[in-house]
Amino acid sequence: MTAQATTATTGRSQPSTAVFGTEVAPWMVRASTVDGRFDGFEVTATAPLALHPFTHALHYGSTCFEGLKAHRGVDGAVRLFRADRHAARLEESARRMSMPQPAAGLVLEMIEHVVRANLEVVPEPPGALYIRPVLMGVDPNIGAAATPSVDALLYVVASPVGDYFAGGRRALSLLVETEMPRTTPQFGRVKAAANYALALPATMAARRVHDVDQVLFAPGGRIQETGAANFLLVEDDRVVTPALDESFLHGVTRDAVLTLAVRSGFTVDERDLSVAELVACAPEAEAALAGTAAVLTEVGSFVVAGEEVRFGGDTGAIIRLRDALVAVQRGAADDPDGWTRIVQ
Ligand SMILES: *Cc1c(COP(=O)(O)O)cnc(C)c1O
Repeated sequence: MTAQATTATTGRSQPSTAVFGTEVAPWMVRASTVDGRFDGFEVTATAPLALHPFTHALHYGSTCFEGLKAHRGVDGAVRLFRADRHAARLEESARRMSMPQPAAGLVLEMIEHVVRANLEVVPEPPGALYIRPVLMGVDPNIGAAATPSVDALLYVVASPVGDYFAGGRRALSLLVETEMPRTTPQFGRVKAAANYALALPATMAARRVHDVDQVLFAPGGRIQETGAANFLLVEDDRVVTPALDESFLHGVTRDAVLTLAVRSGFTVDERDLSVAELVACAPEAEAALAGTAAVLTEVGSFVVAGEEVRFGGDTGAIIRLRDALVAVQRGAADDPDGWTRIVQ
């Protein structure tokens, strides 16, 4: 099935039912460099970009992005969730990809403008406005394989979304991949566009052969993450998740969930997590994926070396942590760390 992009026509009171990422919010924000420096931005209608066919990003992969959400709260106000962290991560990604760096302050301002311009199409919960800043090298030079792009385009688009996982809330199934890494260590911490193409063959094969939802990458038996979300386990009152290193994306959701877990009385263990340990703690433990799109979604089963391993301890810990996270995002709980920011 090919998902067609559609222009948002939903009013604010309707949760989005379109396939995640296909509904187009009417306004975007864009900024370009002059001699490698960003200076100002403009709000325009969301429309096709005019790119030179020699564009650096199209030939040499100089492109990366961010993904974050604005939520309509219990009081009707629209709140961005940890937009400062996403803006800072894009600035850092640009550095790691040898691209002109947009200051985090500029990215944050552009994000706020895109939400303000699209306030009318922010859906009611459980929907949200998904925001996608994209940075690309635009030098028209097909001889620049070993030269970074001097100039860049930064644009921020938005999409009213419902649930990321088709079919709504249900426990996911994952194939554990112990041979192939998700990406290279150089780009592990970056939302580099090519990372997602790199993970596709493994993901498609897993779906075809094992009928699973996603792949959990664990090269050499050491768990990293899935194609677009971080991984964690809950065992009794302990949350276990791989310690931050260069191999995987340092998720903002992961960080928020760990903070809320500590606050709710869990012990948080950030360390190496092996596939053997994962198998050993089934079926009592709970497992979940954490990410802006996935929020916190339970994993019900794994395929490990061809064998199914079922999970699903019934403690409800994952649901409690997800509820705690969503409550902050919607302004229904205290926000002592200042994670949310009202846009009006
Ligand atoms: C975006 C992403 C995540 C989740 O990061 P958040 O900041 O929580 O949205 C995790 N892993 C990968 C590979 C990602 O692309």
